[in-house]
Amino acid sequence: MNNKILLFLFFIFSFTFATEKLVEVRIFKQADILYLSEQGFDIITRKGDFLYILTDEKGIGELMGLGYPIKIVYEDYQKEMEKISLQYPSFQEVLFQLDSLARRFPEITKLETLGYSGSYPIVSMKITDNPLIEEEEPEIKITGCHHGNEKISTAICLYYIKRLLNEYYENPLINYLVNNREIWIIPILNSDGYVRNRRYNNNNVDLNRDYGYMWAGSGNSPSPLSQNETKIMKELSVNNNFSFSYDYHSAASYVNYLWDFHPKDPPDSNYIIYLSQRYADSTYGSSTTRLVPINGYDWYMVRGSSQDYLFGVFGTLSWTIETQQPSSQIQIDSIGMANYRAFIDVLRIMKKGIIGKVIDSITNEPIPALITFYSPKRWHIYNDPFLGDFYKPLPEGEYNMIVYACGYYPKMIENIIVNPDTATEILVKLIPNENPIGFAYRVYYVKRTDTDSLNPTLTTDCLGLPDSLFYSLCFGGEIVLEVDKRKPIRNFSGIDFVVYEGDDGITESYDCYVSLDLINWHYCGRGLGTQGFDLNNTPLDSAYYIKIVDVNSGSNNLPYDGFDLDGVIYYIGEVGIAENNVNKRINNDKFRIFNYLGQNISNRGIKNLKKGVYFIKNREEIRKIVKIRD
Ligand SMILES: [Zn+2]
Repeated sequence: MNNKILLFLFFIFSFTFATEKLVEVRIFKQADILYLSEQGFDIITRKGDFLYILTDEKGIGELMGLGYPIKIVYEDYQKEMEKISLQYPSFQEVLFQLDSLARRFPEITKLETLGYSGSYPIVSMKITDNPLIEEEEPEIKITGCHHGNEKISTAICLYYIKRLLNEYYENPLINYLVNNREIWIIPILNSDGYVRNRRYNNNNVDLNRDYGYMWAGSGNSPSPLSQNETKIMKELSVNNNFSFSYDYHSAASYVNYLWDFHPKDPPDSNYIIYLSQRYADSTYGSSTTRLVPINGYDWYMVRGSSQDYLFGVFGTLSWTIETQQPSSQIQIDSIGMANYRAFIDVLRIMKKGIIGKVIDSITNEPIPALITFYSPKRWHIYNDPFLGDFYKPLPEGEYNMIVYACGYYPKMIENIIVNPDTATEILVKLIPNENPIGFAYRVYYVKRTDTDSLNPTLTTDCLGLPDSLFYSLCFGGEIVLEVDKRKPIRNFSGIDFVVYEGDDGITESYDCYVSLDLINWHYCGRGLGTQGFDLNNTPLDSAYYIKIVDVNSGSNNLPYDGFDLDGVIYYIGEVGIAENNVNKRINNDKFRIFNYLGQNISNRGIKNLKKGVYFIKNREEIRKIVKIRD
């Protein structure tokens, strides 16, 4: 594998881009950030009342036309970036350094090419004992150079790698942490941008606007997760349940925390803010190294960022660390050292909260699972899809969770006590269900059209079985949900899946589409409120993805605007006559009712239903019993 990297041939294709200028724009209110972002301006940083925007002559004319006072900081931004980059290693030098370190420390490293950015490899270094196998250990991801010209971020990654490896045999703490964590470091995500010293990738897309959570098409991103680099990051997160992630950027001095897209804090925000301050406190040294915590939205709103995506979709606690970008080696090293202190502290404390493993109660085999939290509400997480282990970082307190896995009864676990600075360990044994209810397992992407300041609902509430908690799409909003591919939605006779609406007092309409490959979408019909859909209306026999698009119109000025999605469910068990198997005539003569925990409650006094499969959220909702299969 290492040889592959060394044998890689370096071609530089010549691209020509219009001369980019860095412009300082005076703003007067927070709404100016939203406005300029919606006008398509590439905001790259903010200092107080000034935004810094990359644009050309035409853009400068437009900014002036809009009445903003501007000042040109760099006439030729690229030329300034070239000057700064002289202190930093070339792309080839970075690969050589990684390769020689991997050769020196083969017992604790795995160097691999995850894919390509343009024609250049995206290389990751995994640091842990037994690096070639997956172990039951908490995982962390460190990423440099989403923006190819922010080379200090790569220098920080290299600094971490060198310190960890060189201290492994000498320093007992480092030895312990490397042996008991899985540390993934991607020093350069935007390899093409690094080679060309450009912020954008080879398609001129800002990668930190291309992720699929609250995506809005900023930074020239044509669609959510449209680029190789972001798709590769998605796959890495699907296969490794990272509980922490830090993306390094420059040039500011911030520990930037969730959310970037929205002013309302996520349910875990007290702990996130505590951890942000703790990180910042470790960066003491000088004004060059010292960072301060800042809320992403308060700094400047960004849609489609990596940190929002990793938390929103996977529940990974994620930060954007913005450091200065110095041009002297001494300062580069001092920034590396200050952040390394913070990073080691994170490695030390990352195994606190609720940890455990999800297994089959009969075979004891690990099962991939969705783990949700309620009262207090906390964001969901996933366990490791191969080993079943999970880590939910939480401060002391009492928690309740529901664990969902396709093909099993959901399991509610109540009153879990987490003591200060410790981990409470839970072995979750799920009971197989021969006639299980399928559900939306993960968000693939979500788009909003509003500026979001009033919407209090959370996407974590439309996963798992319907429970009356919901996510409001906003007018014109859109969401794509994934189901467990091992138990997809299938085409039986009649209804194949049901889209559940939460109750905000208004029944709203939406268009529903299904897909197997995310490329070909098939229209399934227009829904109004809770409604069943039939794959027979499409060419598909089975589906992995469901897209729900709000079709209502309005000004998005109320909290629950748009369709309110409680969940998507489908019945996997055999019943009636499967259209593709005429011999399967099972239980054709009676009805079955399942509740929100997937339990069959057919014998509990509910009578006079036509044959079929029904779902009921709870006893109080007896009038709202919903047929999910004929
Ligand atoms: Zn950046």
